[in-house]
Amino acid sequence: MYSAGDVRIENVPDPQIIEPTDAVIRVTRACVCGSDLWPYQKMEHIETGRVMGHEAIGVVEDVGADVRTIKRGDFVIMPFAFSDGTCVFCHDGLQTSCIHGGFFGTTEVAGAQAEAVRIPLADGTLFPVGAHADDALMASLLTLSDVMGTGHHAAIIARVTPGKSVAVVGDGAVGLCGVIAAKRLGAEQIIILGRHADRIALAKDFGATDVVSERGDAAVERVRDLTGGYGVHSVLECVGLEQAMNTAISIARPGGAVGRVGVPQEQTIPGSEPAFYNNVTVGGGPAPVRAYIEELLPDVLEGNIEPGRVFDRTVGLDGVPDGYRAMNDREAIKVMVTP
Ligand SMILES: [Zn+2]
Repeated sequence: MYSAGDVRIENVPDPQIIEPTDAVIRVTRACVCGSDLWPYQKMEHIETGRVMGHEAIGVVEDVGADVRTIKRGDFVIMPFAFSDGTCVFCHDGLQTSCIHGGFFGTTEVAGAQAEAVRIPLADGTLFPVGAHADDALMASLLTLSDVMGTGHHAAIIARVTPGKSVAVVGDGAVGLCGVIAAKRLGAEQIIILGRHADRIALAKDFGATDVVSERGDAAVERVRDLTGGYGVHSVLECVGLEQAMNTAISIARPGGAVGRVGVPQEQTIPGSEPAFYNNVTVGGGPAPVRAYIEELLPDVLEGNIEPGRVFDRTVGLDGVPDGYRAMNDREAIKVMVTP
């Protein structure tokens, strides 16, 4: 990506082992993220461009001399952040705050919408999938690199537990995975706030019990109507815009919690007064998806959850620019890339 709307497919030098802790993986599947749409809409021109993409699964092609657990030929999930797996925050299960870590698809570290990608700190970062996974599971395995783990994180931060009422703000891939996560954690009522027919249908398949397509005050009123006038115990904020956050805080019941995973597009969090007077906890951030793979993987392998259904379009590398356009125009929910 060179600037907003300017996505090109180019030949670049093959990724190489630079540090002895690196690996190189051949990407078998990658995808376009809803968060990639922020630079797609706003990015200033940069001369060198930015190799995009932070979600992938693939096969290890090469490892550096100090890589111990990851081996050539391993089939791996690449979380969107790299991490050493050994620092204080990695031990706390917060790999997105790893003191040696960082993110793929930035100007510093090339991304995975590519044939191959260099993986810093390979032992801490990559998650080898031991089983010979069926081809039909690949889409769902790919979601463990970001969107499914991110939806799960929102649900954990929002303190979803059995029998609780949950609202999911946003019907993108993360919101839809948030519905899966809420259902998986035992929520009794799951309200999806969204307005796109295809996404709503999928949300219902995933376990949403109610749909609210209004916005702003009307949405708040509808959610209160659906919850005995009080609002929900848990809100998953999966958008990142001011109005979404405002709605999220306004529909939490007193003592409730908002788990925010939408990348914020503003400097301040709205809803300070209702959050304060209702004792609403607001938390969240980049999901430590590396920590969640272990928990979510068995349910994917056993077919108990099917987050891969969020992909409704597949393109080759040449189709990536149009994939961005399609997601940005809400023509596609989430675009998979098969390099
Ligand atoms: Zn670390």
